[in-house]
Amino acid sequence: MAATNIALVPNPHNPSVDSEIAAILAGAAPGETCGTDLGDAPWQVDTRPGYGPGASVGDVIPTGAPRQGELPREYRDADADEIERRIHAARDQLGDRVVILGHFYQRHEVVAHADYVGDSFQLAKAATAHPDAEAIVFCGVHFMAETADLLSRPEQAVILPNLAAGCSMADMATIDDVEDAWEQLEDVLGDLDTPDADGLLPVIPVTYMNSSAAIKGFVGRHGGIVCTSSNARTVLEWAFARGRRVLFFPDQHLGRNTAKAMGVPLSQMPLWNPRRPLGGNDDDAIADSRVILWHGFCSVHRRFTVDQIQKARAEHPGVQVIVHPECAMEVVDAADQAGSTDYIRTAIAATTEPTTFAIGTEINLVQRLAAEHPQHEIFCLDPVVCPCSTMYRIHPGYLAWVLESLLAGQLPNRITVDDAVAAPARQALERMLLAVPTPVTGSAA
Ligand code: SF4
Repeated sequence: MAATNIALVPNPHNPSVDSEIAAILAGAAPGETCGTDLGDAPWQVDTRPGYGPGASVGDVIPTGAPRQGELPREYRDADADEIERRIHAARDQLGDRVVILGHFYQRHEVVAHADYVGDSFQLAKAATAHPDAEAIVFCGVHFMAETADLLSRPEQAVILPNLAAGCSMADMATIDDVEDAWEQLEDVLGDLDTPDADGLLPVIPVTYMNSSAAIKGFVGRHGGIVCTSSNARTVLEWAFARGRRVLFFPDQHLGRNTAKAMGVPLSQMPLWNPRRPLGGNDDDAIADSRVILWHGFCSVHRRFTVDQIQKARAEHPGVQVIVHPECAMEVVDAADQAGSTDYIRTAIAATTEPTTFAIGTEINLVQRLAAEHPQHEIFCLDPVVCPCSTMYRIHPGYLAWVLESLLAGQLPNRITVDDAVAAPARQALERMLLAVPTPVTGSAA
């Protein structure tokens, strides 16, 4: 199959995370939320209960999170050249039987083998463009592979090269905690599945794409919808047309930043901490709320600060600061622009004059953008190179292993979503696909 990167063409001169990690090991100071053992091969930490090296190393992993079995020795012992050669050879033999998807945040050595590179939803849609492929190898994290399984044909196998590649943010909203929250909200607001006299439901659940299939299924069952960082505003408009308030999870920052931009006051956005009764709120705060924000966050985007932006402005007069909406509200407010990975890429590509950009998102994407646009100076706001712990788990050795296993007739690390969850989860995704932005109205001056 011809390589068809929908979003970018990998640049062979792009610095890899591994070489940056070597720089860290040589003496760069790690940030306090960044794992210090970044130089370890992922298989040395895959079977431990934790997220391993990288930005979310300190986050609490749920006890039920999948663990990866030991990668066979022949892959652990192979050097980078041999792994590269074996991936190419297996890929050539498999041909159209397999599609390889690579997320923007993957290391270069993996992205270089991808047929498509993009964000989670772009990649899930790319998978549907190859209904005849037997296997979809998803070089991303667990919830992305689940979404690909939801949208692909039942006979197609979605393969996650390393089962330890979860997402700490997605894991912050477990189905048990969300169902418990729903029951508590019902105690305050009454039956949540019955509309009032105006036809509005008391609460519309909205989940970010970065959530488990179980959460998407919950949302689908309760009249809710999925959103991405690209369409969060459109989705909230959809939800407000159908409900009095929104329960938004797992990312509090995307929810807060989006609702604030729509004019929802912060006083009507209580935070729901699943470890506290009524999320740490009283009945009045819940009754008065417009958006109830789940206490989740991305440990990669949490690293960006207002101080970093001020330093960038002091050292680079005229710098354009663009951050992802998973960053804290103060950071988004201090930036020049905020938007999804696709927004950031498009904004840079559309800038014709040589410009200095300070970017607040994952380091792999920032490095790739810098390599793609040598006319601009592009750097990461965070001076510490700290990749996403879980994306980092897709080492090329795992990719070689799953491709050669497919060649041998095996289906390693297949990700499947139960039928009972899949139907409502698809419904929540379909609602998102059908949601359209509210037309801008107003009189001409
Ligand atoms: S960057 Fe953040 S949201 Fe994305 S996979 Fe990593 S932890 Fe999850």
